[in-house]
This record gives sequence, structure tokens and C-alpha cells, in this order.
Amino acid sequence: MKDRGYYGPFGGAFLPEILVATFDELDARFREIKNDPEFWRSYVSLMSSYSCRPTPLTFAENLTRYFGGAKIYIKREDLNHTGAHKANNVMGQGLLVRKMGKKRVIAETGAGQHGVATATMAAKFGFDCTIYMGEVDVIRQRPNVFWMEQLGATVVPVTDGTRILKDAINEAFRDWVTNMDSTHYVLGTACGPHPFPEMVSYFQSVIGKEARKQIMDIEGRLPDKVFACVGGGSNAMGLFSGFSDDPVELVGVEAGGKGVDSGFHASRLCSDDASPGIAQGYKTYFLQDDDGQMKETHSISAGLDYVGVSPILAQMHDQGKARFEYATDDEVVAALKLTMQKEGIIPALESAHAFARAFKEAPAMSKDEIIIINQSGRGDKDIFTVADAFNDPKWKDFIVSKAGEYQND
Ligand SMILES: *Cc1c(COP(=O)(O)O)cnc(C)c1O
Repeated sequence: MKDRGYYGPFGGAFLPEILVATFDELDARFREIKNDPEFWRSYVSLMSSYSCRPTPLTFAENLTRYFGGAKIYIKREDLNHTGAHKANNVMGQGLLVRKMGKKRVIAETGAGQHGVATATMAAKFGFDCTIYMGEVDVIRQRPNVFWMEQLGATVVPVTDGTRILKDAINEAFRDWVTNMDSTHYVLGTACGPHPFPEMVSYFQSVIGKEARKQIMDIEGRLPDKVFACVGGGSNAMGLFSGFSDDPVELVGVEAGGKGVDSGFHASRLCSDDASPGIAQGYKTYFLQDDDGQMKETHSISAGLDYVGVSPILAQMHDQGKARFEYATDDEVVAALKLTMQKEGIIPALESAHAFARAFKEAPAMSKDEIIIINQSGRGDKDIFTVADAFNDPKWKDFIVSKAGEYQND
């Protein structure tokens, strides 16, 4: 176990002594299922009846015509149950938990999407479920907290520290140390101590497997470039893994926020604000100051707003196996508007980062070149943020009148 889970200098498992045995067991059980083709079949079967696998690969003919360059295809992870690729990871871990005989799951969540996905999985499998969330996020993300509670989860507001995601992660680890025998910690992205980066990437690899087969069926050839947004890196790992042995350019797009020189962004691989370090049990590029204090992050999309990044992507970055770019908040809002109006598709703000970058590159490509954009999720969840960004007056009237109704209660 000691040497496992390293990607060049990145990754590893830096754990309190008390958790080592739990991680060893998790790693051993994960090895078993990874070597068992029957497990993969049961996973795909579950995802095809409970979620929407295989998700379609949509030819974006209007956007293609509009830009006049490469053919644009969209991998539709938004059509998953609960509206994003997160379902792939939580359902895969759910099957594993059932095999391990545990009855309780815990998770951390920032924006609430991973919390909702985990609470959904727990309801389906009949597990007890506790979700840790910074108190600030509980207030900001009330709609997701509402759904987690309705789905049967207990949501615990964390009042330590700055009361956001990193504090929730610490609290979830504290819970796990106390309840290792009964409980599994459902980590939400391809980060954290080994085996999580590998395990989450494994479940998400269904995206790339399908996309490769689909483009070969439709076009009879590989794409030239594929684009995915990068928060922790799980949807990008999922898509990239399908093309890692192919002559396909892999492009990861980070949150450029107000610009990578502004101090208001979440770009770890395209800015000068990040450096390698060890935190939260693993080594990667973190947005940190010279003393190792984590920096504040900013993005219009809550799901890309994270200080670390997958150690697997960190290595691919250093080795030049993937190219990393960023999209700013303004570029993202413009790409979202264009995609809605040209294709009738509403990407999540996270996914719209990949769209924004692809839209910059597609026009300069030739008409017989092909790109695939991963639409990691659907945008309905972003209605508050997007309506604000569009400054929609009728939406404001609606919010004010709704608030008025409660005041008169
Ligand atoms: C959570 C989320 C992301 C970011 O997570 P990754 O692990 O980087 O994929 C991206 N898109 C959507 C829609 C999300 O919900």
C-alpha cells in the first residue's frame, strides 16, 4: 500500500495512523472489483436502468455551422439521474459499499451537488447517510440542503474554521475515524488519499469508454480534441481515459474566474498561484501561499471552486499528456447563452467552461476535424446564479414577490 497510488511525485495517502487499516481494506476491496468483469457488468446494468447510460453523444449541428470549423459533438452527462456525471461515482461506490457489508455512508459537499447525489444513492441502497457541509454553504445552498433532507439524509452544518468545504472535509474524516467499522466515506471527485483518485476515475471511465465507441460508430474515426472542465478532475478523467492511448489532444479547462492574474479564480494548473503541497491526505498542486495556507478561491460555478486538483491530472500536466486552459466567468456566461440559443441545451456553469474553451478553438480548425465537449451536468440548478448574471428583471420581481408571501405568513 505504501508505494501505491503515486502519479509521479503526486498522490499518495497521508493518513492518521488510525485510518490506515480502513484505507487498506478499501484498497483491497477495490482491487477485487476492478479485476472482476462481473462487477463492471453489474455497474453498467445498474446505470442503464437507474440512470441514463449510455448517455447520448449529440452532434451540435447549429454550433458547428455557426463557428464554421471543427465538427462539434457533446457527450451528454447532463442526462444522468440527478443531472450530472456525479451519479457515476456515487452509484459505483454504493455497489462497493454493499459488497463490503457496510450500512452507513458519509460525504462532504460544498455546492451540495455531491451531497444530493450521495443522499440519492443512500436512499436507493437503504444506507444511513450523513452529509457534512460548511455552515456558510448550508445557508448559500438551501435548495440542495432541502433535497438532501427530503431524501432522508442528515445534513450537519460545520461551524469550524471558515465554515466551507475544507472544514466539512475535516469533519467527515473525524466522523470516519470514529465509525470506520460501519461507515464508508463517499469522496466526490478524483482527489484525496489513495485509492480515491484511481477509484473515482475508474467509475467515471464509463464516460470515455462510451464516447470513444460512439464517435467511432458515427464518424468512423477518433476526435482530434476532447474538452472537459476541471474541478477536482473526475469528469475530465472519465472522458480522457477513453482516449489516453490515442492520438487525441486532451484539454482540461479550469475556472479562470475574474482572470488568473486577478486573485479571484480557481486555476491550479494555469496560474502562478498554485504549487505542489500535501493537504487533505494527498499531494498535488494546491492554491496556497508561501506558508502553505490555502488561498480563497472564486468561480461563477460552485463545482469548480476547489483548492486542489486530481493528482493524476497534475502528473498529466507535468508530462504534457494533457493541455490545461482556463475560461473566465464572462466567457462562461457567453458560452452558456450561445449553447442554449443554438442547440436548446442548458449546460451546467461548470460544463460551460469546457464549451467556452472549445468555442475559442473550433473556428480555427478545419471542417473535417472533430471535437467532443463533455457536458458534465445540466444547468437548471444554476438558475439563481444565471438569472443574476443575465440581470433578468422579471426573475428579480419573482424573488421579491416570493419573499413577500413569506413575510405575510
Ligand atoms: C461537481 C461538478 C463538476 C466538477 O467536478 P469534477 O470532479 O472536476 O468533474 C463539474 N461539473 C458538474 C456539473 C459538477 O456537478
